[in-house]
Amino acid sequence: MKNYLFEQKAAFAFNIWSIDSARAVIDAAAAKKTNVILQTSSGVFQNIAKKQLREFVSSYAADQGIRAWLHLDHCKKTELVREAVESAWDSVMIDASDRPVEENIAVTNEVTDYAHEREVLVEAEVGQIRGVEDDLACEQAQIASVEDIDRFLQETEIDMIAAAFGNAHGLYQSEPKLHYEIVEYITGKTRIPFVVHGGSGMTDEAIRRLLRIPNVRKINISTDVKLAYRKGITAAYEKGLMERDGFQATTVEHLIHESIKSMAGAKLSLLTE
Ligand SMILES: [Zn+2]
Repeated sequence: MKNYLFEQKAAFAFNIWSIDSARAVIDAAAAKKTNVILQTSSGVFQNIAKKQLREFVSSYAADQGIRAWLHLDHCKKTELVREAVESAWDSVMIDASDRPVEENIAVTNEVTDYAHEREVLVEAEVGQIRGVEDDLACEQAQIASVEDIDRFLQETEIDMIAAAFGNAHGLYQSEPKLHYEIVEYITGKTRIPFVVHGGSGMTDEAIRRLLRIPNVRKINISTDVKLAYRKGITAAYEKGLMERDGFQATTVEHLIHESIKSMAGAKLSLLTE
């Protein structure tokens, strides 16, 4: 089965929640002439028009001359993962990292069997990444242990691996202490692409360093997309565009679109500099 992550050196994966946010990210990627991953959290996945989002992402990206893949981010429920596979998402993440490693492996294998039969890729996580994202919360940083990583690599057939290496979801309170040695250990041991979670708020320097490690191929950006959306709304207020008189929804939408596109464009520049 072909792994789309091998089609280019690395790709950013931006969390989106609507056709409009998907379009802003695709526009940014098309401007940089790079392919891109759009991911839905499991909460978004449950509420979105799946068939129409799938069709939009494929057809709009093709019109812009790039490829955009759809991925299901952190999902703890196997039924939902199956639904994403059936909805033609290109890849899914089963996240049982909060369970003991043997249970994590068992659930991951169950999902992988199902997904691979339908040519869908699987991402899984070793060592729980801390922070808050959607309905997902983890207080304590748990750096993945070498024993767990080894077992996971030996006993699963996943296509993308995520591991806790000091990264976190949401807003970093201070600069994170990243354990690059864990990323280097994994990428030195396997050809399975490594996924960086919690890319929002990491410095460009940290992302550059990660991208220099061979086989770091997917960098997740979620919080920054939401902050860019907020920035667009704030800009509309500041320009006086939210006054009742003369209010134009399209002008506000345009500011939000440009804000998301500009943030995504800045991240994507790190791939080509
Ligand atoms: Zn994550």
